[in-house]
Amino acid sequence: MTDAVDWKKKHFDALREIEAEERRWRDLEQILRRLVQRLCSIGRGGDARLDTQLDKLAASARRGAGEVELKALHDSLADAVLAVERTATFETPDPLATARLAALPRAAAPAAVRWDASCRAVVRVLDRLAEADPAAPGLAELRAELEAAADDVALAAVLGRVADRVAAHGADLGRERAEAAAMLAQVTERLEEMAIYLASASGEQARGHADTQQLNVEVLAQMTRLSDEVRASDDLGALRALVADRLEAVAVNVRDFRAREELRYAEHSARTERMKARIIELEGEARALHRSLDLEKRRARLDPLTRIANRASFDERFAEELARHKRFRAPVTLLLWDIDHFKTINDTCGHRGGDAVLREVATCLARGRRATDFLARLGGEEFVSVLVGTTLADGLRVAEQMRSEVEALPFHFRGSPVRVTISCGATDLRDGDTAESAYDRADAALYRAKHEGRNRCASG
Ligand code: GH3
Ligand code: MG
Ligand code: MG
Repeated sequence: MTDAVDWKKKHFDALREIEAEERRWRDLEQILRRLVQRLCSIGRGGDARLDTQLDKLAASARRGAGEVELKALHDSLADAVLAVERTATFETPDPLATARLAALPRAAAPAAVRWDASCRAVVRVLDRLAEADPAAPGLAELRAELEAAADDVALAAVLGRVADRVAAHGADLGRERAEAAAMLAQVTERLEEMAIYLASASGEQARGHADTQQLNVEVLAQMTRLSDEVRASDDLGALRALVADRLEAVAVNVRDFRAREELRYAEHSARTERMKARIIELEGEARALHRSLDLEKRRARLDPLTRIANRASFDERFAEELARHKRFRAPVTLLLWDIDHFKTINDTCGHRGGDAVLREVATCLARGRRATDFLARLGGEEFVSVLVGTTLADGLRVAEQMRSEVEALPFHFRGSPVRVTISCGATDLRDGDTAESAYDRADAALYRAKHEGRNRCASG
């Protein structure tokens, strides 16, 4: 009985142990199947041939496939691994093909495309192309095709078109950059022309010059900033905006400069006009001054009663003729005149009558004489004539003619005729003469004429 109980107990114990063992194996199998799925998932992406096998293995592990199926899968996976290793070991890899292969999304299942880093980079390229030119046609379609590409062939076709678009965009950028460079060169040339024009237009005034310098500095600064910004910029739209901004800034500088220049010009013109008016005024004043000085000079040389030259004028002129005679030896005759009994005339006709006689006699002595002859009133009723280029003999004939003309003057006072005669002492200039010696000789001759009866000419 005891043996039977022991055997039974041992049998049940053995059964429990087997069941426990079975549970442990099932748990282990589940863990292994999950592990297989995980490993399949982790191992994907290296090679398309492996990926297919790994996907199948993962599906089988999930499904709880049996030993035979798993064994077959294991063998085909081993073959694929060998094939891949062979490719890696013995075949010269084509870098482009490898890169393309790496860039291709892997099919986890026939209906799905797996995205890897390269594929996301292609999407970013499409995004950048769309940013650069939002109006570019076909980019959204390319992206949709990329996402929908079911296999490597479709994907390669999409990537080829993306590459074409990138190349075309690069060519556009190059063309736009060349256009921008040409535009910049033109802008620079215009700015330089402006600077040269402005520099030459306002060189004369220091203020204008300083202003031009300042403008040049500002324009140069704008150009330098523009140049730096153009170099730093890779976006043509932003570049155009920068160029427009800089040109506007330069235009503002130039407009301000022009305004200041016009103000300067207006001030300069007004100043010039004021100067002109002042100069005209000063010229008028100078002319008036000259006229008044001439008048004063003439007045200083003129006898106010008879309006002929006075003694000062005679002294000056006689000194000149004396000097000229000494140099050229041309004959000069000096005639000294004195109205006879003028005191009696004054007494008879009054002082104003006497003045009238003086004026008439002066006019008579001056009439008909040569332009080179000279007549002055020395004072009282005494006159003097200087006959230039006339010998004493000729001078005496002229003096006689003058005397007779005075004698013939028809003077009347209160209806009665008044006889007016004049006496003359004549001499010519001689070697060693001074003004005084010549005058004294003429005076001596006049004295003789008076002494010999008046109304006559005598020489000495
Ligand atoms: P003679 O024939 O000797 O020359 O006699 P005379 O009377 O002319 O001589 P005298 O020199 O003595 O007289 C000159 C007079 O002339 C004296 C003076 O009053 C007068 N007389 C001098 N100057 C003027 C003047 O400007 N106007 C007038 N009316 N008379 C004057
Ligand atoms: Mg006299
Ligand atoms: Mg007299």
